[in-house]
Amino acid sequence: MKFSRKSTEHLDACRFCWMCRHICPIGNATGQERNTARARALGLSLVAREAVDYSEDIINNVYECALCGACVKECVTGWDPVAFTKEARLGAALDGKLPAYVLKMVNAVLETGNVYGAKPDGKLATKIRGLDKSDTLFFLGADARYKTPENAAGAIDLLQKLGVSFTARENEPDSGYGMDFLVSATSETKSVAETCAAALNGYKKVICYDPADAKIFRREYKKWGIKLAPEILTFTEYLAIIIDEKKVKKSDLVFTPQDSAILARDLEETEPIRKILGKIGRVSEMLLNRRDTMLAGNLIMNEYMPAVMERVAADRWINAKNVGAKILVTESPAEYALLAKTKPAGIDLVTLEEAIAKCL
Ligand code: SF4
Ligand code: SF4
Repeated sequence: MKFSRKSTEHLDACRFCWMCRHICPIGNATGQERNTARARALGLSLVAREAVDYSEDIINNVYECALCGACVKECVTGWDPVAFTKEARLGAALDGKLPAYVLKMVNAVLETGNVYGAKPDGKLATKIRGLDKSDTLFFLGADARYKTPENAAGAIDLLQKLGVSFTARENEPDSGYGMDFLVSATSETKSVAETCAAALNGYKKVICYDPADAKIFRREYKKWGIKLAPEILTFTEYLAIIIDEKKVKKSDLVFTPQDSAILARDLEETEPIRKILGKIGRVSEMLLNRRDTMLAGNLIMNEYMPAVMERVAADRWINAKNVGAKILVTESPAEYALLAKTKPAGIDLVTLEEAIAKCL
């Protein structure tokens, strides 16, 4: 496994540093030193020096990172563990060293069009078939379509209630987010992205239900030179625009936003959710909010380390309890799914669309 000069520099900077160890949601969940940016860098720096093999254990460790960017945000010296971790995943793919649990998901994308190898949900497919044609596409994404179809259906219902003209695709292509997460920019990842771009280029506007898809459309496609003609909006920012023009009831409900790490850190979007929740009720913040947010779960990692993902979500519930949250509001289908699985008594969990629907 050969690392680029840039990644080698970052590995060498991180390998003896402890400064971000408290911020890693995985390290906090497992309590293990191996789940810190520094430990990952130490192992990979030895691989880069050819002092040790790129072994199964080191590769497994590379897949224990959620790429959530909390360490990158925390690093005052500007080093980037997400970048070297993605390069290490690319290297594992190119060297033919992917763990079986990763290979299974990569093959699922290539063979079935989704990382979970799942079949479409019947009720959601019927709902999608009932939508009119429009040049605005509501892109649901793999997590919502295959893991939380009831959330996807609820989001469609809300857009209809708000009088939005939009459509969705029964044969929605995969955005490539799962491939990018698992193996970074391989030729297969780019090919999945190119197929998706070709399908999307007939629309004027694409509203992404899942922040992960908005991120890959806006950032990675550009990096890979893949042209995407439509305007790309996140669901949250689109709802903020629509709600601004609508009459909604201001309730006495107190909402606590669970900022999506992808929205807050990768896309630098933190205010639309507050604008919406402030209009329909009152906002009460987590201590770690906006760019400091803590990941509450990742459904791809849930396929191979479910106990840790549940612990990650449970930790976020502890944060919510500590600030006296009453209603936790999510923007990401993955976080909703894992928070729902671990929900304690005494706090409600709602998606952003459910919060809005309460006040229409
Ligand atoms: S990302 Fe920054 S703070 Fe974290 S281990 Fe690397 S150098 Fe240290
Ligand atoms: S990107 Fe997130 S999960 Fe990975 S080491 Fe950094 S803080 Fe931990």
